Amino acid sequence: MTFTPHGKHLIAGNWLAGDDFFASQPAHGPSHDFSKGRISDVEAAAQAAEEAFWSYGYSTREERAAFLNAIADEIEARADAITEIGTQETGLPEARLQGERGRTSGQLRLFATHILSGDYLDRRHDSALPDRAPLPRPDLKMIQRPIGPVAVFGASNFPLAFSTAGGDTAAALAAGCPVVVKGHGAHPGTGEIIAEAILAAIRRCNIHPGVFSLIQDGGPAVGSALVQHPLIKAVGFTGSLAGGRALFDLCAARPEPIPFFGELGSVNPMFILDAALANRGEDIAKGWAGSLTMGAGQFCTNPGVVVMVAGEATDRFAEIAQAALTEVPAQTMLTDGIADAYRNGQARVAETAGVHEILASTCDQRNATPFLYRTSAATWLANTSLAEEVFGPLGIIVTAETHDEMHNVARGLHGQLTCTLHMDEADMGMARSLLPILERKAGRVLANGFPTGVEVCDSMVHGGPYPASTNFGATSVGTLSIRRFLRPVCYQNLPDALLPEHFS
Ligand code: NAP
Repeated sequence: MTFTPHGKHLIAGNWLAGDDFFASQPAHGPSHDFSKGRISDVEAAAQAAEEAFWSYGYSTREERAAFLNAIADEIEARADAITEIGTQETGLPEARLQGERGRTSGQLRLFATHILSGDYLDRRHDSALPDRAPLPRPDLKMIQRPIGPVAVFGASNFPLAFSTAGGDTAAALAAGCPVVVKGHGAHPGTGEIIAEAILAAIRRCNIHPGVFSLIQDGGPAVGSALVQHPLIKAVGFTGSLAGGRALFDLCAARPEPIPFFGELGSVNPMFILDAALANRGEDIAKGWAGSLTMGAGQFCTNPGVVVMVAGEATDRFAEIAQAALTEVPAQTMLTDGIADAYRNGQARVAETAGVHEILASTCDQRNATPFLYRTSAATWLANTSLAEEVFGPLGIIVTAETHDEMHNVARGLHGQLTCTLHMDEADMGMARSLLPILERKAGRVLANGFPTGVEVCDSMVHGGPYPASTNFGATSVGTLSIRRFLRPVCYQNLPDALLPEHFS
């Protein structure tokens, strides 16, 4: 099934053409013209979302679960066409797009099951104590309620699972919040076909069409207008530190500030402890090379840095990693801009005094192959720019002279999505001393694994202290992510008949 995009925005159930257009820049296949988002589209989508909230925000959990399942069904019904346009636009391999589609429909269904259980409502009840002295206590019931229209910025690196119907959208819709998606210019056709699936589900479930709008890319002015629109009550975002920070600042500066849930990236350090390095260094080096180059390194959980104590085993680790990385073929990056950013990041690392190149390669046009560098902990600690994310398959081995210096590297880290310990039984003491530091730095701490591959489940935390995310109390993956789009309301002495949920 071939899908030919028409290039329009979806605003409250209507496909609308703009008056200005941009051409998509697919990795391969034909380019198509897409309407550029306008401020008037933002206005129309936000108004429609607010109107929809008055019914959707008060819908039953059963109605929303049916809607989420219908979106998943409609996505699966378009499986082949989604893979075709998705691979063309992003250059990601077919198997990756298929897996990501499964994850996308899977997380929609997971949220359906999750809201039906009702646990997320966090219902609390303090019964009235009319005879309490000196003052009686009223009847108090607390429940989580949806916050209103939510803006979602589709991510470039997950055209399905973190984009139009991705985790942010699924969580907001599950909570009862209408969504306005600002489409990513890297995959507008993929966004369009997913919007088509959501529209089909809206019609099947007879839901107010303002519950979902997709505004195709229109540049920074459109994104800025969206987060500043007074009817938008929260924002979900995955992307760069610079872009995320600019939008976060706009949200904070609004007359009514709103939460901006930005997932901005990190270097995901792996600490390889002595016994693990001596006993399993070769396997860890090969595993690292695989994790580092997965998806051309375009994962927010890409482990860009490994830290270990210098010694013979470190030299061997570097040789094995170099050999494994040399085998990795060139991979297409998501956009020309991301390939440019990769080149710039690589140059920044390579030009730092005290950083030694172990594997040089090429990154021409949109193709990337891995780079590998080695430096001392002292150089790492003295050059804060080395701790900035290089989005792509670039690895840095940081060697400490002592365990104390390893602790200092850990203490010097910015907020991370993940930190990993590779450890054997004999490393338990060092691991125990590092853990209190690492858990202050990261949303997820792993042992003996690789951080790429984020499970969508109840316990997942995909977030962390700034700059990994702009809100350390939240996750953008897993069922807990619904919490971002809810706020607690306390009902004092209200008759049960008026309450939005049963408390028995
Ligand atoms: P991006 O430049 O941050 O853009 C993401 C979204 O935010 C786009 O829709 C973009 O719209 C919008 N945006 C960015 N800056 C804005 C601003 N100042 N005002 C209003 N809207 C703004 O990210 P990207 O294009 O996906 O990738 C670029 C870089 O981001 C990568 O090289 C990588 O470093 C990083 N990245 C990180 C992750 C991660 O998971 N950590 C994921 C993807 C990308 P416009 O295009 O219309 O400006």
